[in-house]
Amino acid sequence: MKAFDYAKPSADDEAIRAGKRAGARFIAGGTLLVDLLRLDVERPDLVVDLNGLPHADLELSADTLRIGALVRNSDLAEHAEVLASFPALSQALLSGASPQIRNMATVGGNLLQRTRCSYFRDIAVEACNKRKPGSGCAALSGYSRMHAVLGVSDQCIAANPSDMCVALLALDALVHTRGPNGDRALPLADFHTLPGTRPERESVLEAGEIVTHITIPKTALAKRSAYVKVRDRASFAFALASAAVGLEIEGKLIRQARVALGGVGSKPWRCPEVEQALIGKPVEAESFSAAAALAMGGAKTTTDNAFKVELARRVIVRALAVAGAGA
Ligand code: SF4
Repeated sequence: MKAFDYAKPSADDEAIRAGKRAGARFIAGGTLLVDLLRLDVERPDLVVDLNGLPHADLELSADTLRIGALVRNSDLAEHAEVLASFPALSQALLSGASPQIRNMATVGGNLLQRTRCSYFRDIAVEACNKRKPGSGCAALSGYSRMHAVLGVSDQCIAANPSDMCVALLALDALVHTRGPNGDRALPLADFHTLPGTRPERESVLEAGEIVTHITIPKTALAKRSAYVKVRDRASFAFALASAAVGLEIEGKLIRQARVALGGVGSKPWRCPEVEQALIGKPVEAESFSAAAALAMGGAKTTTDNAFKVELARRVIVRALAVAGAGA
């Protein structure tokens, strides 16, 4: 591991100034960065510790859940109000990592999780456009079972690994940031970028910009939400495919729906065509299957990961059944 300087600011403007320096990296829970430092994938000159900033608050008002960027994943997942009013968020968090990692990992860090592509994490592999722009992509001709099929480019097919972000996308979350150019509030759908020709860039954050908090509207959809994840083993594994859904039901009919996918996209993936197809339909298996069949349009698969197209549709059906239960 390369030696680096360390700073622990106690105010946002100080953190932003430090984070703007070339070669600077932010750290909070450290569950991602320390891993990448050990692997020599990240070699920063300066590590800026955000744990002195006042962003560890978690508040629920009448209509909004406000989650500070430094809230730990376990605290969010197990919060009574989150369990009751935003079940998909709690289920997504509890399906990720291990209890020890969730105790350390922050919400801001989870938002910025980097891919688990094994070629990205192995510096002995030369070809990785995300780690070394212009070097190629070893996954395109290599092993790609875990890789994305939506939003990919001929430069990178890495999947976004976050469970939490899939739930946040389905729950219409806003990401609040503070940076050299002031404060911003971004819909989660606009926060992550597609790989295109610049896979090394993964979000719209500018140099020095920090996430301060996330807000989620408290709605009927959020209360009747669910997260279902399919993976190779029952815990401590990343999604092959996952779905976060929310339903608002009036009588026996679906009034509004939200559907987002994980494990299949280069970023958390919303499915508006599925949502639209559910509106006005009865809460029953036939409606769920017909709508889910519309998902995964535009998928670009490899021999290794073609199974994800059908798997993702089935995961949507399962998640809708869970969310619609008892209606
Ligand atoms: Fe690198 Fe992306 Fe290719 Fe993986 S898929 S090797 S992260 S460029």
